[in-house]
Order: sequence, then structure tokens, then C-alpha cells
Amino acid sequence: MSPPVRSITSDETLPQSADLVIIGGGIVGCSAAYYAASRGLSVVVVEKGHVGGEQSSRNWGWVRQQGRAVAEMPLSRESLRLWGELQTKSEADLGFRHAGVLYVTEDQPDMERWERWQKKAAQHQIESRLLSATEAKAMTPGCTIPWIGGLYTENDGRAEPALAAPGIAEMARKAGAVIVQHCAARGLELEAGRVSAVVTEKGRIKTSRAIGAGGVWSALFCRRHGVEVPILGVRHTAAATTPAPEVTGGMIGTSPFTIRRRTDGGYTLSKRSPLLFELTPSAFRHFFAFWPAFLREGKSMKIRFGRAFFEALATPKTWPLDGPSPFEKESARVLDPAPDPQLLKLALDNLRKAYPALSKTELAMSWGGTIDATPDAIPVISAVDPIPGFFLAAGHSGHGFGTGPAAGHLAVDLATGVAPIVDPAPFRFSRMVDGSKLIPETGF
Ligand SMILES: Cc1cc2nc3c(=O)[nH]c(=O)nc-3n(C[C@H](O)[C@H](O)[C@H](O)COP(=O)(O)OP(=O)(O)OC[C@H]3O[C@@H](n4cnc5c(N)ncnc54)[C@H](O)[C@@H]3O)c2cc1C
Repeated sequence: MSPPVRSITSDETLPQSADLVIIGGGIVGCSAAYYAASRGLSVVVVEKGHVGGEQSSRNWGWVRQQGRAVAEMPLSRESLRLWGELQTKSEADLGFRHAGVLYVTEDQPDMERWERWQKKAAQHQIESRLLSATEAKAMTPGCTIPWIGGLYTENDGRAEPALAAPGIAEMARKAGAVIVQHCAARGLELEAGRVSAVVTEKGRIKTSRAIGAGGVWSALFCRRHGVEVPILGVRHTAAATTPAPEVTGGMIGTSPFTIRRRTDGGYTLSKRSPLLFELTPSAFRHFFAFWPAFLREGKSMKIRFGRAFFEALATPKTWPLDGPSPFEKESARVLDPAPDPQLLKLALDNLRKAYPALSKTELAMSWGGTIDATPDAIPVISAVDPIPGFFLAAGHSGHGFGTGPAAGHLAVDLATGVAPIVDPAPFRFSRMVDGSKLIPETGF
């Protein structure tokens, strides 16, 4: 079942030309549209379903620097700053609050990892602090688990996935962007090897620049143009609880459960693992690229072979631009994977046991979402070298709600040739194809 997401109206007329076309109306595409339109560019966002309908409304709503890989620290720090600015400037509530991210543990190896991570974070002006057992207990009042310590980042935040992407899309529209929903981009037209237009199901937009912010669909879109990007879909789960007493105003991450306080008085509940990985032909094609990630994360995953494999096999790899593309299939309009009921039952049981005050809490609704994962768990925010004029902002690997505003900003910086908000080197597309070792950072 799809979680609720604020619905926004669609612009009726597709412009014939634009300075920039953005493919995908998630948090990244909407942020990119806002920053580009604010600079006076003519911008069109095309979204095959509705704004925020996929990952951006299905995530847990954590806006965190805590735990980020070193390569992503500057992006997450800048993004947190942008979230604050967006919330202040937005007429609608995005649900953003500096509410604090708290991790607590019963395991000494976690403390050792967190201590190593915290030293690196301090070099990037991320103010996280390690907590003793007494401090961890004091920060989890009413909790019965004997934590041995924790890690806390006070200025990390939360936002409401149901509100954020639509709210930012409205800000982009106010700044001049055109937002057309139910409008799949079928592909790019090239002239002399450069982008000259984006062809959509509603017509053609002449442009010299396009940003692909299509989440998990990005690899298929690129493949249509002969560019292989190793991005695989990994399924994760979340639920909203019924309104419940406040045990935290922010987020608590533990091994038995994770919770985020919601503005409706409940919690978004989940568990870090297991994630579900459904084998597809792409998994075999990118087997070697993902092998180090698999060695690291495989234990915390359920791996399944079944329908997803044959559906992917039946999906065309190329298609003419004057007929329907795979993005227009009814099942592709808004990807709505099933949640994992076992994971949620365990998370709820664990939460109720840990917090007697929450013993009557129930699940109000649950949903699944498909994460766009890269082999090194770092996004691609970059020019796509083989297609001049095309930029990718995808592969956010489960972090892109928090980093979304800065990711969109960076994509626009690169597409328009202005000084980038952060060093773009860690996010370069070329690392995917030049034989760079793609290894997810360990140590957290
Ligand atoms: C269960 C779950 C929990 C998560 N928790 C967190 C969290 O707490 N914090 C965090 O930072 N991140 C979290 N994430 C990850 C986060 O949600 C994503 O990284 C982020 O939303 C990515 O945003 P996006 O705009 O790139 O992609 P999406 O939100 O997936 O948007 C991409 C959009 O592009 C559209 N599209 C694709 N192809 C086309 C096309 N050809 N034409 C037109 N439109 C197209 C799609 O319809 C879609 O709406 C979580 C993810 C999941 C699934």
C-alpha cells in the first residue's frame, strides 16, 4: 500500500523548450528544480507518476549526518543546512525539525566503531558525541534495555516524507519551474552527440541540459542510451504507528527497532535489517561491482529469486521514442512494493518490550520502498561523460532523503557550471566505469 503523500496540481502544458529538464519528481528532482528556477533558469520537471510517489514518500524521514561515509559527510552537512533554509522559506510545512539522532547499543563493537567514526566526523564539523551508559539511559527515559552507550547528533533532523517533496515542488513552481506529472520521459534526443531534447509521453522539450533524478529507474533510462550504470533495487520497509506517548521527539536507532517521531503523534517504525534483494539479470551483469558490498551487507539481507527476475528479463532494454516506454506501464507509474510483515512484527514487539509506555501501540499502516543502491553506497551526482548535456543524480543508496536538497543543488551546479556546493569528486560517474575499486566504507 502506498503511504499518503500530499498531492499537488500538475501544470497542464508541456513547454516546447527549457534551459533544463529534470527527469523525476522525488526529493532530489524537486530540490534541483527549486535551485535552478531560483537562479532564473527555465526548468521543467517531468514525473511519470506523482511528485514524491516513490522513495521520497516511503522513507523513514531521517535527515542525518550521523553515520555517513566520509565521502558523503560534506554533502550531508550542507544538506542539513539547506533543509533549515527550505523549511524557513516554504509556505507549507515540510515537517523539518532539528530533533536529534540517537543511536544506542548493547554491544561493545558498536561503541568502538562509533568512536572511530566520530573522530572522522569531527574533522568535517559534524558535532556528534559518544554517550556513556548513564547518558544513554538518561536519553531514553522509560526504556528497559540496559544500553552500554550511544552516539548522538543533536542538530540532525527529521522531516515528513509525505510533505517534503511536494512542498519543495511548490517552492520550485513559485520560483518559475513547470511541473508535469503523469508524464514519463522516454529518452533523450541527441544532436552531434549532445543532448538536444527530452522526449516525453506528452511531447518533446527542446533543451541542451537534462538531469536524471529517476531513483531506481535511472539505470534503465541510461541503458536505453548505451550507458551501463550499476544501480540495483533493494527493498526496505516502514510503518506508521497509531498516536502514542512521546518517548522521543527525534529519532532512535537500535538493533531491535528504529523509530522517528511523526508530526501526527505516532512513530515511523522499522528495523535496520533484513533488506530484501530480489535477483534480476542486472545483478548478474554487475556481479563483480557489487561483490564487496555483498560481502559486507549480505548477512543482513534476504535474497530472493522469483518474479522480479522474469519481469526484468521481459522489460525492453531499448525502445523507440515515438511509442510507449517501460516507464509508462501501469505497474511502473508508482513503484509500490510490498512491505515485510515479519520485520515489522519483530520491530513492534521489540519496541513494546523496550518501552512499557508503548505497549498498546499498534501499526496504523505499512509500506515498502525500493532503494537505488550503488556498489559503494555513494550516489552518482555528475555529468555522464558519454552523453554531453546529461547529468545524473541517482544511486542515493538509502540516504537520499536527508542529502536530497544538497544532491539537487549539486546537480544543478554541475549542469550550469557554477561553483559546486561541495567537492563533486566522490560522486563522479567515471568511477563506475574506469576500474575504480567500488567498496562501501566500513567502520560504522
Ligand atoms: C523504506 C525506506 C526508508 C528510507 N529511509 C531513509 C531515511 O530515513 N533517510 C534518508 O536520507 N533516506 C532514506 N531512504 C532513501 C530515500 O528515500 C531516497 O534516497 C530518496 O528519496 C531518493 O530520492 P530521489 O528523488 O532520488 O528518488 P525517488 O524519490 O525514488 O524519485 C524518483 C522519481 O523519478 C520518477 N521517474 C523515474 N523514471 C522516470 C522517467 N523516465 N520519467 C519520469 N519520471 C521518472 C519516479 O516516478 C520517482 O517519482 C529510505 C528509502 C526507503 C525505501
